[in-house]
Amino acid sequence: MTPPGAEPHDLELGPRDVAMLGDADLVVYLDGFQPAVDEAVESEAADSSYDVGPQARLNVADAGDGHDEDEDHGEEGAHDEGTTDPHFWLDPTRLADVSDGVAGRLGKVDPDHAKEYLDRADTLRSELMELDGEMQAGLADCAAPELVTAHNAFGYLAERYGLTQVGITGLTPEDEPSPQDLAEVTAFVKEHDVRTIYYETLVSPAVAETVAGETGAATAVLDPLEGLTEESAGGDYIAVMRSNLQTLQEGQRCR
Ligand SMILES: [Zn+2]
Repeated sequence: MTPPGAEPHDLELGPRDVAMLGDADLVVYLDGFQPAVDEAVESEAADSSYDVGPQARLNVADAGDGHDEDEDHGEEGAHDEGTTDPHFWLDPTRLADVSDGVAGRLGKVDPDHAKEYLDRADTLRSELMELDGEMQAGLADCAAPELVTAHNAFGYLAERYGLTQVGITGLTPEDEPSPQDLAEVTAFVKEHDVRTIYYETLVSPAVAETVAGETGAATAVLDPLEGLTEESAGGDYIAVMRSNLQTLQEGQRCR
């Protein structure tokens, strides 16, 4: 429901979008990621003129383990919102689990093709596992384990590959960092000799550039895969993740 290139966290839905949810055989969504979708799913479920029962809903939030950013960032993190991190898909192994779950549910909605869904999920799982292996190997030996990012999208990636994420703003990219946040991150960058600050596709680089400007660090683009555009570094998840891997290997100084 998110148009290509739109920032997904603050998606707004029109009445037509909401009606479309009501007609769907299956709605796959991530509770806590897009408040407008959560609300629409709830209201459609409550509206008896539609048939959106629990059967037609698949909340993939279980793919995350509910870790919040306080745990991720320790005392040095700049934030303490304590909200759950929705960005599970940046760990390919978690995405593979969701793919299996979606394939299973599609097979229930459309039993004639159940086997095809499962076969394709199997193929996708092997591709994701191969990617995971490349990322494990590529990020195993990095001079800089601290990953300083504009928004806190990379907690699951960091957790999977042994990096520590320090986000300048919170889990939602529009959150403006306070002067204190900026001062904390700037001090962290200097103290840990962080030489690359990452900003994201779909989000303004201003915050990352501010910190980079004050510390002499460079900036680089890391794609949280919240939407593909013409400017994306590849046409699908796996291609963009491979590009992210290259960016990270350079920025974190990996061997
Ligand atoms: Zn995000």
